[in-house]
Amino acid sequence: MVCRFCKGPLTNKLYCSNACKLAARRLMWADAQKKWAALPLPKKAPNLEETIVPWADGAPFYRLSCPAKSHGGRRYFPKDIALPVFPFEPPKVPKPGYYRVSFYLPDGSIRDGSEIPITDPRFLSPNARGGSKKSLF
Ligand SMILES: [Zn+2]
Repeated sequence: MVCRFCKGPLTNKLYCSNACKLAARRLMWADAQKKWAALPLPKKAPNLEETIVPWADGAPFYRLSCPAKSHGGRRYFPKDIALPVFPFEPPKVPKPGYYRVSFYLPDGSIRDGSEIPITDPRFLSPNARGGSKKSLF
C-alpha cells in the first residue's frame, strides 16, 4: 500500500501523515468548488423574491450557501446575520452560481431548502463575505 497523496509507503492507513491527508482533502474541496463554479447556469435565472418567499412557508429569515473552497463544509451569505424573507431583503453573493437557501425559524431551528441559480448582477458583489457557521448563535 502507498499513500494516496504522495505515494509514500504505508502500513495500514490511507495516507502516510496527517499533512498528506489534509493536502488530499484540500485538493478534493478545491475540486468540488471548481465543479460548482463550472455548473452551467440558466440564461434567465428565476426571480429571487418570487421564488424564496413561497419556499419560506412562513420562516422569517434566510441565508444562502455554496460549497466552501477552504474546508469541506459550506459558506453562508451573509456571514453572521440572516436576511428577512418579508419584506424581502435581497442577498449579496460573490459570484454567479447555484446557492442553497436555508431558512431560520423562530425556535432557532434551520430548514434547508432547494438551490437557486443566481446570475443577476444586482445580487453579485465580489466582496461579499461568507462565513462557515451554519447557525447564527
Ligand atoms: Zn503521503
